[in-house]
Amino acid sequence: MDKELKIQNSLTRQKEIFKPINPPFVGMYVCGPTVYSDAHMGNVRTFMSFDVMNRYLRHLGYKVRYVRNITDVGHLVDDADDGEDKIGKKAKLENVEPMEIVQRYANGFHRVMDLFNILEPDIEPTATGHIVEQIEINKKLLENGWAYEKNGSIYFDVSKYNEAHEYGVLSGRKIEDLQSNTRTLDGQDDKKNPLDFALWKKASDDHIMRWPSPWSDGFPGWHLECTVMSTKYLGETFDIHGGGMDLKFPHHECEIAQSVGANGKKPVNYWIHTNMLTVNGQKMSKSLGNSFLPTQLVTGDHKMLEQGYTPMTVRFFMMQTHYSSTLDFSNEALKAAQKGYRRLANGLKIVKSLSFQNDEGKKNDQVIKQIDQACEGCYKSMNDDFNTAKTIAQLFELLKKINSLHTGQLKYGEVGQDAFEKLSETYQTFMEEILGLKEETPTAVDPIIDALLEVYKKAKAEKNYKQVDEIRAILKSNKLIIKDLKTGVDWGYEE
Ligand code: AMP
Ligand code: ZN
Repeated sequence: MDKELKIQNSLTRQKEIFKPINPPFVGMYVCGPTVYSDAHMGNVRTFMSFDVMNRYLRHLGYKVRYVRNITDVGHLVDDADDGEDKIGKKAKLENVEPMEIVQRYANGFHRVMDLFNILEPDIEPTATGHIVEQIEINKKLLENGWAYEKNGSIYFDVSKYNEAHEYGVLSGRKIEDLQSNTRTLDGQDDKKNPLDFALWKKASDDHIMRWPSPWSDGFPGWHLECTVMSTKYLGETFDIHGGGMDLKFPHHECEIAQSVGANGKKPVNYWIHTNMLTVNGQKMSKSLGNSFLPTQLVTGDHKMLEQGYTPMTVRFFMMQTHYSSTLDFSNEALKAAQKGYRRLANGLKIVKSLSFQNDEGKKNDQVIKQIDQACEGCYKSMNDDFNTAKTIAQLFELLKKINSLHTGQLKYGEVGQDAFEKLSETYQTFMEEILGLKEETPTAVDPIIDALLEVYKKAKAEKNYKQVDEIRAILKSNKLIIKDLKTGVDWGYEE
């Protein structure tokens, strides 16, 4: 089996064969949510993409330590170094403790992750839980000469750093271009240069979230938390760091500068960035007012939605596009995804019910080869930079065989026991374990449906068509259908 996983590395801009520093261990850090409001579907897309990578790495046998932080301080409203802290601002508005805001939205975020079957990280550290480490790295950067103090705040000296290292290695930006694009300092600013970024900010009198430090009562700069938490839990250089594309610059660029400045090492071997979820071509974002909340998507309660969609339909919709491409939200695409997901989910239900039988079928080499190729294709696609879109296409190939076995068009003997086992295992593993797509009908309902099918069979045998139609109608109102097959009667999801 081809197990050479290739990853598109944002740092080198190449697809590279994945080689962990210390196999089978893999360190993976993903920038988590800022918990001052509800997570929207754009956020979900990013965390779902990393969920699949985490799942696949584990499937390949790697012992992944997945760290996904919670930003509960230091993210300012304008994403630069000015303005209020997002969480502090909300706390003031609602007249509650900042930690109440943090708890409320962190709880909500976890519920959303569960809804979409996104696995928990192994460590979920918070910025406020690592203030000591953030103060320590400030000291180190001052000692090493990459930072300076002004009026109780500490700034990273980007120009000085750029003389010895390259600022912009990740995003490909050149400091000269950046400089000509930034506003000039207005004399009020403490920074030497507009590109410099805050490592520690002195808190103004009305700033609620603050901690004592050698320089001032203040709070850490946004970029610092990820540097200290990733270093603490994964080491000075670790395997994978991810986040949405919008974090590449300045957030991740600053992380690299901070790590190189403090530890003299590049922090990350493979940088991975996911592309944006868009609505009519525009990035979905809270500030643009075009974001759906997961609950709205499920209930259909939003002016842009024609109906509600189940969480697994949405997961399937997202998996149909590679993480590095933009994905545009539309009712048409979601409706098509609903059909596609139901077909695959039917396949899952069917394949679980099938067991190899000795019928009179003769081994058919062509069919066996097709099954083999589609099974290998699932791995090949995932090994090609986690290409879930291509993997799904392979699952549809396997689905054809599953359905043919179910209807009796294809004999078990034609497939043979080995290929049958491979088909069944690969389909289930990729659907459930790797893509995280699960059946949505609670299993507790199955015996009730089965009992109904017994009544249906009896009614059919007695030619009681009124009752036959009634039973069909009951199931249909629950989006289930009855299938009359050569091999017997079965139920499935309406496609
Ligand atoms: P935030 O809570 O806004 O800091 O964002 C959490 C994560 O979601 C970050 O990795 C962002 O890059 C990502 N993100 C934000 N908006 C979108 C979007 N429209 N599509 C995909 N990812 C997004
Ligand atoms: Zn981060």
